Amino acid sequence: MNIPFLDLKKQYKDIQEEVDTAISRVVKRQVFILGEELEAFEKEFASYLGCKYVVGVGSGTEGLILSLMALGIGKGDEVITPVNSFIATTIAITQVGATPIFVDCYSDTYQINVEQVREKITKKTKAILPVHLYGAPCEIMKLQKIAKESNIFLVEDACQAHGAMYKNKKVGTFGDLGVFSFYPGKNLGAYGDGGAICTDSEELYKRLKRIRNYGQEEKYYSKEIGINSRLDEIQAAILRVKLKYLDEWNKERNEIAQRYKRELIGIRMQKISENTFSCYHLFVIENNKRDELRNFLKVKGIDALIHYPVPIHLQKCYEYLGYKKGDFPVSERVSDTILSIPIYPELKVNEQKYISKELNDFS
Ligand SMILES: *Cc1c(COP(=O)(O)O)cnc(C)c1O
Repeated sequence: MNIPFLDLKKQYKDIQEEVDTAISRVVKRQVFILGEELEAFEKEFASYLGCKYVVGVGSGTEGLILSLMALGIGKGDEVITPVNSFIATTIAITQVGATPIFVDCYSDTYQINVEQVREKITKKTKAILPVHLYGAPCEIMKLQKIAKESNIFLVEDACQAHGAMYKNKKVGTFGDLGVFSFYPGKNLGAYGDGGAICTDSEELYKRLKRIRNYGQEEKYYSKEIGINSRLDEIQAAILRVKLKYLDEWNKERNEIAQRYKRELIGIRMQKISENTFSCYHLFVIENNKRDELRNFLKVKGIDALIHYPVPIHLQKCYEYLGYKKGDFPVSERVSDTILSIPIYPELKVNEQKYISKELNDFS
């Protein structure tokens, strides 16, 4: 058997007619930027999330950058964030000139350590930027409370967590702002780069709409310095089609996850907190002989990936921040032992069974 980590061709086949129709609708209209598809998608995604406003942007990374810009965060400000995430979370902080203040994660859920967040708050702290890692909600209600008490902002990196819920409330809607990525491989993926920011604040919504479009409210009149970061019409039209399937796809991912949990014997895996719904962007297991296991699976035709092999404080580009090995022991250990195995709606039952069998055989 040959099982890729993700198979977007299969997904496209299932929805080809609808997607092709959506794309050609935009091409016929010849409006590609800031048109009716984007407006409709923003409304539809806001209603899906259960929040007042959504602003479509160029990517998840830019969504994070725009969020910090809209909150007025910059030089001299501190933003608390976990070291075990995709590097884009921290890039957003340094891109606006602020200082990332790193914290470790829990050893079972791999989510941001909330106690450490509390300890790291100083007079300079402007925001907490947690991540809902692998599509599972972090302790977002505790973070919400800390942010309120300390009078600082909460921006959620929900780039892996479209449709994930904490106590039946969609993640992304707990913070002042929530950011999503529509990178093709995400649970809700475009056919190129894309992202969105959600909020209940009319003021932040208006500011975000300005700064994603050169700071303009009226064409050629810039109120403030913005950038160019917009979700284009073709992507919005495709996302409108795919949004209708998101819940079904997330349910199928959960069914695969439950089967893995039943079948895998004595294998450590990400713990999902009680009262939460993970959208299982990734299914992550642990093994002390991770690299050996990964090679073993490769020989068996199973593609497995590492998310992520280097914690952010040890990335070359952040050497100047002065962190060193040993500063965040849990994240460092986890980065040596974690492995993501295939999970996507199109994965067949027999393929998934085969993966379980090979994993059990290895250990
Ligand atoms: C994908 C991702 C991003 C960045 O999104 P892009 O759309 O690729 O820029 C940010 N944070 C996390 C946790 C992600 O997984």
